[in-house]
Amino acid sequence: MKQLALVIDLNVCVGCHACVTSCKEWNTSGVAGAMADERPYGKDPTGTFFNRVQTFEVGTYPDTQTVHFPKSCLHCEDPPCVPVCPTGASYKRAEDGIVLVDYDKCIGCKYCAWACPYGVRELDTQEKVMKKCTLCVDRIYDEKLPEAERKPACVMACPTNARLFGDIHDPQSEVSVAIREQGGYALMPEWGTKPANHYLPRRKTEVRVRPEQILRADNPLKVDGKLPKPPEDSPSLDDTASW
Ligand code: SF4
Ligand code: SF4
Ligand code: SF4
Repeated sequence: MKQLALVIDLNVCVGCHACVTSCKEWNTSGVAGAMADERPYGKDPTGTFFNRVQTFEVGTYPDTQTVHFPKSCLHCEDPPCVPVCPTGASYKRAEDGIVLVDYDKCIGCKYCAWACPYGVRELDTQEKVMKKCTLCVDRIYDEKLPEAERKPACVMACPTNARLFGDIHDPQSEVSVAIREQGGYALMPEWGTKPANHYLPRRKTEVRVRPEQILRADNPLKVDGKLPKPPEDSPSLDDTASW
């Protein structure tokens, strides 16, 4: 069975949130319908986001690193959010492994959100239905789009190519090769949910510089006679600033 998934390279994610905003833009105008925002410009803004980037500081000062961690539904192969749903609204597609919610059947009971160990389900408080990442199911099969654009919106938007998309059950796919060759791993495998999305780990790079390798270059602005000089009649700082 085909299993579509995202593979996210934590080594090159810069936490820019382009995937978050492109996801929101595409899905709010797509099958998911408007994705609510509450108090977007207030003190405690909240809203419905299918994809969020969490940023962590790891290590002990001064040896710390900033890690950006994008997270959305992992489209588990054995998803606990499906059997708990009392109405059959939460389901996994046989043809491509995408886990979806049928909004017409959802009663907003939140059982699925409790069952998901990854905290990625989002109750749309305005529409009172559960929503989550659909892997842009309304985009990836759209034959009106050029083939190169039949990818989730987040994948299209990522400026560092940190997000790969494809079938993890096809051993020749880009995602399978990346998982195999770059140590891709699934989140919390101990839960037995077999997440389809995988992460590529950060790779540690160290740069060591010996003191004798450091060359002091002259600052060209400090070479005699080359300092830029303002015209005589230009205002001084005292003329333009109020102290
Ligand atoms: Fe279900 Fe959560 Fe797995 Fe997504 S990540 S399929 S919502 S259990
Ligand atoms: Fe099913 Fe909706 Fe309840 Fe989730 S919130 S368990 S999708 S009815
Ligand atoms: Fe990271 Fe790419 Fe998302 Fe930016 S768009 S936060 S680089 S995954």
